[in-house]
Order: sequence, then C-alpha cells, then structure tokens
Amino acid sequence: MSIDKTATQILNLAKKGFTIDLEEKIMKLRVEAIDLQKENLKLKEENIQLKQQLKRKEEFGFDGVVYWKKDDKKYPYCPNCYDVENKKVHLQNYHGGWKCKSCKEHFGDVSFDHYGTIRGI
Ligand SMILES: [Zn+2]
Repeated sequence: MSIDKTATQILNLAKKGFTIDLEEKIMKLRVEAIDLQKENLKLKEENIQLKQQLKRKEEFGFDGVVYWKKDDKKYPYCPNCYDVENKKVHLQNYHGGWKCKSCKEHFGDVSFDHYGTIRGI
C-alpha cells in the first residue's frame, strides 16, 4: 500500500479519535516510510555507480588488449584490474608489451601468452 493511501486512512481514523486502528495505521506508515528511505538510498547508490561507469567510459577506451586514458597516451591501464576490481593500474613496459605490477598479468607482447607463461620454453 502506498504512503499516500495510508496517510488518508490515518486522517479518516483521526477524525474518530485515537483508536487501535489509528495506532496500527501510524505504525504501518512508519514502516512504509522506512522502506521508501531504504529504496531511496539504494537508488542513490546505484545512481552514483552508474555515473562513475559513465565517466569511466568517457575517460577510457579499450583497444582490444588494454585500456587507454584519452588524455594519457604514454602508458595503458590493466584490463584485469580495471574490469574486475575497478582499479586503475598503469602497465609497465615489459618485453615489447605490458605488465601489470598489481595482478602480474602480461599484455600485448609476443613472448607471453594470455596467462603470462613463456611460450616455447
Ligand atoms: Zn592488473
């Protein structure tokens, strides 16, 4: 039931004086208000997350291997750390490709496969 409908019932009951029904409706109104506060808080948090995701999409681009910040073309960012933990970790030059100092993954080089193991050795 909506808060508006409950408030109307409370108003009608209040006209009859303070009764058990009135007290129950006031309690119900409190519960409904708390539920709305919880829902509002959840929606605010979700809105913040969506704004952050949108900002990330505007700031970063994925080239199929690593992420690049639009105003920083010198060092890319780790896709593992970025996608999984939402951490922005610069990659370091490593054997012609890139290495993440956080998750230790290698990217974009020919000496290492996706899992970072050395090929042919
Ligand atoms: Zn990483």
